[in-house]
Amino acid sequence: MREDDLRASGNVEDRRGMGGAAKGGLSIGVIAVLTLLGWATGIDPRLLVGGAEKVAGSGTPPARTAPAQGSPTDQIGGFVARVLGETEDVWSQELPRQTGHGYEKPVLVLFSGVTRSGCGVAQSAMGPFYCPLDHKVYLDTSFFDDMRSRLGGGGSFAYAYVIAHEVGHHVQNLIGLLPQVQQAQASSNRREANAVSVRTELMADCLAGAWAYHMSQRHRNIDENDVRQAVATATAIGDDRLAQQAGRNAVVPDSFTHGSSEQRVRWLLAGLRSGSVSACDTFRSGG
Ligand SMILES: [Zn+2]
Repeated sequence: MREDDLRASGNVEDRRGMGGAAKGGLSIGVIAVLTLLGWATGIDPRLLVGGAEKVAGSGTPPARTAPAQGSPTDQIGGFVARVLGETEDVWSQELPRQTGHGYEKPVLVLFSGVTRSGCGVAQSAMGPFYCPLDHKVYLDTSFFDDMRSRLGGGGSFAYAYVIAHEVGHHVQNLIGLLPQVQQAQASSNRREANAVSVRTELMADCLAGAWAYHMSQRHRNIDENDVRQAVATATAIGDDRLAQQAGRNAVVPDSFTHGSSEQRVRWLLAGLRSGSVSACDTFRSGG
C-alpha cells in the first residue's frame, strides 16, 4: 500500500509517553459511573478489534504532560494520520451519498500503555477500540507490533484495515445502529447478545473493506498482495483463532463476539468488492 498521496488528518490526539495520568479528560468519578452503567446493563461500551493480549513492550517516547493535537510527525504516527485522513475524505463523500447521513470526523487518540477514554480506562492489552460515548478511536500502535509478531503478519494495508474497522464502528454510530445494538443487547441473554455483537463486528469489517474500495478508486494504491495481508489479519483475529491461540481447544461459537475467521474474511471482501454500505448489512443477511 502506498500512503504518500493520502492527506494527513489533523484529528489525531497524541498522548503517547504521557503515562496513565491524562489530564483534561473526564474525571475518574465520571468514568467510574459510565463503567458501572456499562456493567449494570451488561454492555461493554468499548468495541474492540481483536481482543488480543499484548505481549511485547514498545519503545516509549519521553514523558510529556499534555496531549499534542494535530498530525504527528514520526513515521508510525504520520501513517496513522494519513489513513485517518483518507477515512475522513472517503466517508465525508460516501456516507451522505449512500445513506443521507452526514459524516462527523472522529478523533483518534494515540496512546502508550494506559489512558482514559469516555468508556473507561483504555489499556494496550485491550487492543484498539472505538468509544461511542466520546466518538474517539483509541489506538496503541504497539498493537501493530503484535500483529507483526503473532497475529498473521503486518503490512501497512493490514494496519490500515484495523484503523478503518474502528472508524467503521463510528459510521455505525452515526447511522444510529450502535444505540439500537446496545438496546437489543440490554434486553437479551448472553448468547443473543453475543450474536448481535458478532454481526456488529462483521459489519465494521465490511465497512473497512468498503472504505478501502473507495481509497483504491481514488489513489490506485493497493494491490493483491495488500489484500492478502489484510485477509491474513482478518483470519488471525477471528474469535475461533484467538481462542485456539489462548489454548482453549474447545471453541464455543456462542461465546464469540467478533466472528469466526471465515466470517471476518468474507465480510471484509464483501465491502472491498462493492464499496457499498448497504452491502454491509450483516443484520439482514444470514451472517
Ligand atoms: Zn470492532
